This record gives sequence, C-alpha cells and structure tokens, in this order.
Amino acid sequence: MLRFAPSPTGDMHIEQLRVALFNYMVAKQKDVNFIVRIEDTDKERNITGKDTEIMEILEKFALPHDSVSHQSENLHIHQTLAIRLLEEKKAFVCTCTPDQLAADREASEQNKADPHYSGRCSLVGAEELKKLKEEKTPFVVRIKAPDAPVVFHDLIQGDIETAPNEVDSFVILKTDGTPTYNFACACDDMLAGVDLIIRSEEYLSNTPRQKHIQTLLGYQQEITYAHLPAILNAEGGKMNMCEETSTVKWLFAQGFIPDAIANYLILLGNDTPAEVFTMPEALEWFDLSRLSRSQVTFDIDTLRSLNREHLKRMDDKRLSTLFGFADEDIGKLAKLYLGEASTINELASKIEPIFAPKDFEGKWGAQMQTMEEIIQNAPMMDDYDDFTAHLVHMTGLKGESFFKPLRLILTGAEHGPELSEIYPLIKPYLLEIAS
Ligand code: GLU
Ligand code: ZN
Repeated sequence: MLRFAPSPTGDMHIEQLRVALFNYMVAKQKDVNFIVRIEDTDKERNITGKDTEIMEILEKFALPHDSVSHQSENLHIHQTLAIRLLEEKKAFVCTCTPDQLAADREASEQNKADPHYSGRCSLVGAEELKKLKEEKTPFVVRIKAPDAPVVFHDLIQGDIETAPNEVDSFVILKTDGTPTYNFACACDDMLAGVDLIIRSEEYLSNTPRQKHIQTLLGYQQEITYAHLPAILNAEGGKMNMCEETSTVKWLFAQGFIPDAIANYLILLGNDTPAEVFTMPEALEWFDLSRLSRSQVTFDIDTLRSLNREHLKRMDDKRLSTLFGFADEDIGKLAKLYLGEASTINELASKIEPIFAPKDFEGKWGAQMQTMEEIIQNAPMMDDYDDFTAHLVHMTGLKGESFFKPLRLILTGAEHGPELSEIYPLIKPYLLEIAS
C-alpha cells in the first residue's frame, strides 16, 4: 500500500507532484493500492479549496487512487492512541510553560547539544489528566524518548541511524487536543497498512520520530522508506519553497502539458532508457532505487523540449481542441509551428492570429485589401498552386509584393511555416481567415 499525503496549505509544487507520481507508479507496478490522505490537521495553515485543487491535479495527470480521506476524520483515533500510550506509561502529560521550555532550549544550546526536552514532567501520568482538565491547566502529551538510536534503511539515502538524544520526548498531542504532524502521520500510515513511503527528503528527520511512535504503539510491520532528493531551481534554491514559479499551476499557466511535466519529473535525476516517454512506457522500467542520491536542478529548457515532443505526438484532433476546434487539420496546423513554439501558449500565439481579423493598415494593407476581395469571391480551390495562380492572375502582383501580403492575410504574421503546407489545412476556413 502506498500513499500520497499532501497538506492543503498551498498550491501543489512540482516536488510534491513528483512524490505523487512515484507513489502512484510504484503502487501500479506492485499492483497494490494507492491512497490519498489530505493532511489537514494544521487548521491554521489549511486553505479552503486546496484539497479539491490537489485532487483535480491528480486527475489531470491521470493518477487514479483507491481512496481519499482527510486526516482530521481520524482525530478521535489519534486521541485514543495517545491516551493508550499515556496509560502504558510510554507517554506523559507535560505542563511546562513556554518560559520553562525556552530555558531548556537555552541550556541545551549552552551544552552544545541538540535542543531537547528536559524530561521535567516525564513522571506525570494519565491519572493527572482529569485534574488538569478540571483546573483548565494547559498541557500537551509527549511520547517518551527512545533509549536507543533509531535505525532504518532508506532505498535512496541508504542506512540511517539517529544520534543519541536526536529524538527527544516530543509532543504528540497539542494543547488543543489535536495531534502533531508526526503523530497523526505515524498513526495513519500504521492504520492504513502503508508499507512503502516515498516522500521528499525534507521529511527524513521526521522518519525516526514516526518509527518510534509506531514502535511504542506495538506496530510490527516493516515500512520501507524512499526519501527523494530535493529539486533545486536555477539559482540553487529549493524548489519547494512555495515560489509561484515552482507550482504545478504555474506550469499549466505557461502552457506545459501533463504528459511532458510527468515525463520531465520521472527523467530528473534518473537513469532512464529513453528521454521521451509516456507513463505506460515508464511503468515498464521505472525503478526507484536507480534515482540519484544527489539534488537535482530544475531545467525549464529540458521541460520545453519535452513539451514540444509530447505536443508532436499528441492526437491531431485532441491538439486542435486546445485552440477551440475539433478538427484534425487544425491539430496538424499547430504542429507545423512546433519548430518555433514549445508550449500551448506559444502555439496559441501562432494559431489565434490566423483566425483573427486582419490588420489592413500596415505596409501591405492595400494589396491585402485587393486579395481579400478576390478570395471572398473566388471558388473554393483545393490546390495551393491553383489558388496562388488565380490570385497572381487577378492581382497582377508578384514576388515580395505578392507573397508578403498573402502571408499576412492568411496567417496574420510576417513569418512562419511554408504557406503551401498551411493552405491545405486552413482552406475550409478561408472566408473567415481572409478578412
Ligand atoms: N503532508 C506532507 C506534505 O504536504 C507530507 C507528509 C508525508 O509524506 O509524510 O508534504
Ligand atoms: Zn513538561
């Protein structure tokens, strides 16, 4: 069982999308379930509607899931499990004030140790709970620190072992009774029977805590981890830092298509048998353990060239729908422009002027006017040579003064692919175009 566990706290960024893709792919390869869990326990950071947006993005990338749930639905289970740990004396109630905790932090800094909880309340058990609640004394629940280092193997990062004191007696239930991220996540992975967790490297330091929680809850099943190296931007900064330009939304707004984005994210830092591929092809050979351990840099130019390749391979009719048509020939027309355009937006900037009203005010305006009249009154001609011969005959124009205005009236642009290639694709629309 694999899962994708996004927080609805912002726009999905490409690093998260990569996590979703890999979890989906491995689940598919292993023929096991892939579930989505919206991690919405941090109420202050949740943004309304982001969960729906995340699901829409998964749909656009055709990553079907077996179930979707919100973590907050499990609140009572998290609380019950925390109480169980309290009763088993594996957790304790902590009433330390912020000042006391700040003093602890300072003390550990002076001793040059990792900041960790002092253990002040570690003897306060479940029996105190009732009294604290009656007195309305704020408290949190902390799990007892492990007495040995936590060790695990990561498919990408190798063997990991925590330093002594790295995992201290950390909080599992906050003062408002809601679970911390680590607790909710560890419980839910356990309850769902997730046995392979693929996620970003930034969660690597949480893994020992989550393993410790599961161990104290008596969970026996082994969970395998794969923490993916960060994606850096061209400046060397981390892509997941909520920059607008690293969101999936931004890539869509630029005119990148899901097939190309998925191809790029699978290619990044990977050893693949081909550079351009589809998801079904990648499922044949994708192997998590071949991913590079080092950080990778996002390169928009590679994405652009992949986008062009996937647009080339797109079904002609489907491509035409991106420009408001349902006509194979318009898809073919768009493909003529792929030499100079890589995104849907760039293609649209070529296709739209063809169908837009023409500008008769420019240098070739007068010739265009003459051509307009002739075209509007001419019979439909299948052949480009017949069409131009007719126009030449009727206008008496030749050379540049024929071809410049002709290109302008047919395409709305001064340069572009051969008119002889364009003409057969646009001829049914000629009366609309030449006006
Ligand atoms: N909720 C975390 C996120 O939005 C993921 C946590 C996890 O995968 O364990 O990135
Ligand atoms: Zn305390």
